[in-house]
Amino acid sequence: MKYYSTNHSVPEASLSEAVVKGLASDRGLFMPERIERLPAGFFDGIDRMSFHEIAMSVARSFFADDIEPEELDVIVKDTLSFPVPVVRVEDDIYSLELFHGPTLAFKDVGARFMARLSRYFISRGSDHRTVHVLVATSGDTGSAVANGFLGVEGVCVHVLYPKGKVSPIQECQFATLGHNITALEVDGSFDDCQRLVKGAFMDSELTGKLLLTSANSINVARFLPQSFYYFNAYARLKEQGRDEEMVVCVPSGNFGNLTAGLVAHRMGLPVKRFIAANNANDIFLGYLRSGVYAPRQSVATIANAMDVGDPSNFARILDLYGGSHSEISGMISGAAYDDSQIADTMRDCYRRTGYVLDPHGACAYKALREQLRPGEVGVFLETAHPAKFRDTVNTILDTEIAVPERLSAFMKGVKQSVSMTNDQTDFKDYLLTLV
Ligand SMILES: *Cc1c(COP(=O)(O)O)cnc(C)c1O
Repeated sequence: MKYYSTNHSVPEASLSEAVVKGLASDRGLFMPERIERLPAGFFDGIDRMSFHEIAMSVARSFFADDIEPEELDVIVKDTLSFPVPVVRVEDDIYSLELFHGPTLAFKDVGARFMARLSRYFISRGSDHRTVHVLVATSGDTGSAVANGFLGVEGVCVHVLYPKGKVSPIQECQFATLGHNITALEVDGSFDDCQRLVKGAFMDSELTGKLLLTSANSINVARFLPQSFYYFNAYARLKEQGRDEEMVVCVPSGNFGNLTAGLVAHRMGLPVKRFIAANNANDIFLGYLRSGVYAPRQSVATIANAMDVGDPSNFARILDLYGGSHSEISGMISGAAYDDSQIADTMRDCYRRTGYVLDPHGACAYKALREQLRPGEVGVFLETAHPAKFRDTVNTILDTEIAVPERLSAFMKGVKQSVSMTNDQTDFKDYLLTLV
């Protein structure tokens, strides 16, 4: 399978090239040249398949040309070493719990798949230099990618994060690891971190001297596997006879997760429509309403992994629908909530149902409650465990939520970050010391 750039001004790339480059050299995002519809029989019998079997079928559709079936099977199995249950919260609203992985957020799925795919290509490649993974994070990407790659030979990970803008719990999950993981604490915003990473890939001196790769949600090896669990959500609802008129609501920042859902839909998954839930960073909602995409500086919110002012994957959404605003707004509706609405939602849901939402999932839950129509069944993606935002959640709910063991283990580690300005030349100097 070949991968083209959403800017269409460079030749198509192979899977391994697309994974290593991350971003195409014309600054476009890679897309698979074909998104094949799965046969109707697959959907008829999907409720009798396990998550792993479903994921294998979807994975084969993209990766069978490039990876031997047994190898792909191992990569998928290792990636999905934890459950992804669909939990009923109330009436017609279900939570797709994506937080049962090692770092308690959905990004574990894409990050673990990408780390394993990279190891596969590195071990077969002819270039034996160290691979440097550059990743900008607003919170959860850094921990998922760092833990996905921790201890993988031949790979060093450099995590850029905005100083003071990620929670201490998030920070300890990537800044305490050591070994092949370095955390860079950038004096700036998440958008600055993302700009530094993109700038490094555009710098021919750097790309000539170092083998650089990106692990942001723009990387095809992270974004495509996120489609696996949309199929699983459908299968688990079908098992309960609740698969008619499924509406999926995704709390969105860089829009990688939602785009993976749109890809699943293109492969034939019977989703009636999608809802994109935002925090106060409502650029996408603005686009849906006006047809004009107007990126701007992000603002800080309590759902900080969604604090994105210029969502990278918007380019992929445009590409999937040929740039048609009417098709996009016909398929996806939007919503945006400020911090006090998010907090009210968390309190309200907790009091009525006992279900503890994290601030990201709360945006999606609220959007579903407001927009679900009679006869529809709604699934929202619960993208992180509430304990990742423990102080915020405890204060809002006025309670003391339980912290899972795998999270408290991280909190015992010692922070070992390197300080960095938001200046491109400083970042370049740092990278040149790695040559
Ligand atoms: C990253 C993240 C999001 C946003 O996902 P995108 O794919 O960037 O839209 C939402 N919730 C949580 C908890 C996250 O970590």
